[in-house]
Amino acid sequence: MKTLNDFNFENKKALIRVDFNVPLDKDFNVTDSNRIEAAKPTIIKVLEDGGSAILMSHLGRPNGERNPDMSLKHIADKVSEVVGVQVKFSEDCIGESAEKAAADLKPGEVLLLENLRFHSEETSGDQDFAEKLSKLGDVYINDAFGTAHRAHASTTIVAQFFDDSKCFGQLLAKEIEAIDKVMASGEKPVLAILGGAKVSSKITIIENILDKVDHLIVGGGMTYTFIKAKGGKVGDSICEDDKMELALEILKQAEAKGVQVHIPVDVIAADDFSNDANTQTVDVDKIPDGWQGLDAGPKTLANFKEVILKSKTILWNGPVGVFEMENFANGTISVGNFIVEATKAGAFSLVGGGDSVAAVKQFGFQDKVSYVSTGGGAMLESLEGKTLPGIAAILK
Ligand code: AMP
Repeated sequence: MKTLNDFNFENKKALIRVDFNVPLDKDFNVTDSNRIEAAKPTIIKVLEDGGSAILMSHLGRPNGERNPDMSLKHIADKVSEVVGVQVKFSEDCIGESAEKAAADLKPGEVLLLENLRFHSEETSGDQDFAEKLSKLGDVYINDAFGTAHRAHASTTIVAQFFDDSKCFGQLLAKEIEAIDKVMASGEKPVLAILGGAKVSSKITIIENILDKVDHLIVGGGMTYTFIKAKGGKVGDSICEDDKMELALEILKQAEAKGVQVHIPVDVIAADDFSNDANTQTVDVDKIPDGWQGLDAGPKTLANFKEVILKSKTILWNGPVGVFEMENFANGTISVGNFIVEATKAGAFSLVGGGDSVAAVKQFGFQDKVSYVSTGGGAMLESLEGKTLPGIAAILK
């Protein structure tokens, strides 16, 4: 895998696909600069080598129209502040103005291009558009994991115009390494904790992951489809009746593959889907009618703790309860704490894909686990075993 350190950027212009799709307030101030910070190491490496950086990104969904509200010029000052260099801005990402700005760029300088998605050719993966982008730089770097699952012009198609002069940025390389640890090269025992609302949205991940893990924890809303399929009473809990057969099939497959599956044994049940509902702790297979399981119970958490603490490689995708409601967040917070404890004891922990990332940030675990993925959809597709087009394009 070619990474930044295989290159010396002296007198080179690096065309870098970054993910600067950051939130703006109504006055167009950047309200969360995490994604800009995340791209900094790659930009700095290029500049310190004596090269220059041409940054390209999308912002929002302008659908091929020039939309001033989604101009990347709003974030130029923030990028300058983070990188520590006064960033130049090009009003278009292709064409004469962009080419001139790129040609005039001197070592140590940074150019930010206007929103790629002002051109519909970006998302359609247009060859000509990609070729025009490619003219701006000598080397192509992809550092945008969040869009690596899209075969867009700037994330995938552009790479074909660079032969060997292309590589992953530091952020993307870290994502790839983290996924590889869980899916291929991690120390055993390997554990996946899959939570979230529905079996149907996680099924491809579960099927793919059964070949990679020693233990699988199933939690959250998915639990009840499994429990009902095994003959339990789940009351009014979220349940996909049409996925019950599939749930049994998964359990059979897991057994055949020697994967130990851990499902909740008790839950915090509520008489309403509300933070103010009445609650009781019940066995997971004896939930009374009118009650629904909204969080993992104490015996369940004790079981989860034991499994988590003996694992050396841990993937966490999906909360184990309705963590958005304070009264049902305990399970998800506890699982986070167990993972932090395992990490301190030497385990590698990756949190990725959707709501577990939100939970980890909300409860302050992000610096205490080994890696928190920056890409929702891209991480989910990786866990499903798909090769992301943006990654394949660099490896070709
Ligand atoms: P996902 O996007 O698939 O990771 O699902 C995350 C959502 O699952 C969160 O919004 C949780 O509130 C929800 N969830 C977790 N446990 C339950 C449960 N027992 N009942 C209903 N929703 C749940």
